[in-house]
Amino acid sequence: MSVATVHLADEAETIRFGEDMARAVRPGDLIALSGDLGAGKSTFARALIRAMADDEFMEVPSPTFTLVQSYALRIPIAHFDLYRVADAAELDELGLEEALEDGVCLVEWPERAEDALPAQRLTLRFLHHGDGRLVEIDGPEPLAARVRRTLEI
Ligand code: ADP
Ligand code: MG
Repeated sequence: MSVATVHLADEAETIRFGEDMARAVRPGDLIALSGDLGAGKSTFARALIRAMADDEFMEVPSPTFTLVQSYALRIPIAHFDLYRVADAAELDELGLEEALEDGVCLVEWPERAEDALPAQRLTLRFLHHGDGRLVEIDGPEPLAARVRRTLEI
């Protein structure tokens, strides 16, 4: 069941969505980012991380090759890209569980590790929609309620 669907007309709206989501997340939250190449996952992740760092120009390198990029912020963030991850054992080595103990995890290509990811997670499915994007938001309560309340959606 979908919590909500938001329409993002342009890149600026994706960035604002990431900034809004930065106000909603708490340590221990996992946000799975699904969607085709070019759907807006990295734009969203960069905006969320920069907002949490309170630094709109901070470098946010893609985790495509390193698999994970970690940020020692007030709330630590780990940004994963599982595209090249073959099995769950690799996920353990990357330290997903530890990262969730005191921080927030953003996970691109969550489909690669579906069964190994905690069920308590927010899924954002980015879809092309005309010139803009749609994002389907899914997740269990009370996480979903917190997101709806903070984003007023
Ligand atoms: P992904 O990480 O999913 O492959 P990116 O975040 O790299 O996608 O975005 C690909 C392109 O889509 C970028 O050029 C970005 O500016 C653009 N983009 C992001 N959000 C939107 C939007 N809501 N509407 C139109 N273009 C967007
Ligand atoms: Mg990307």
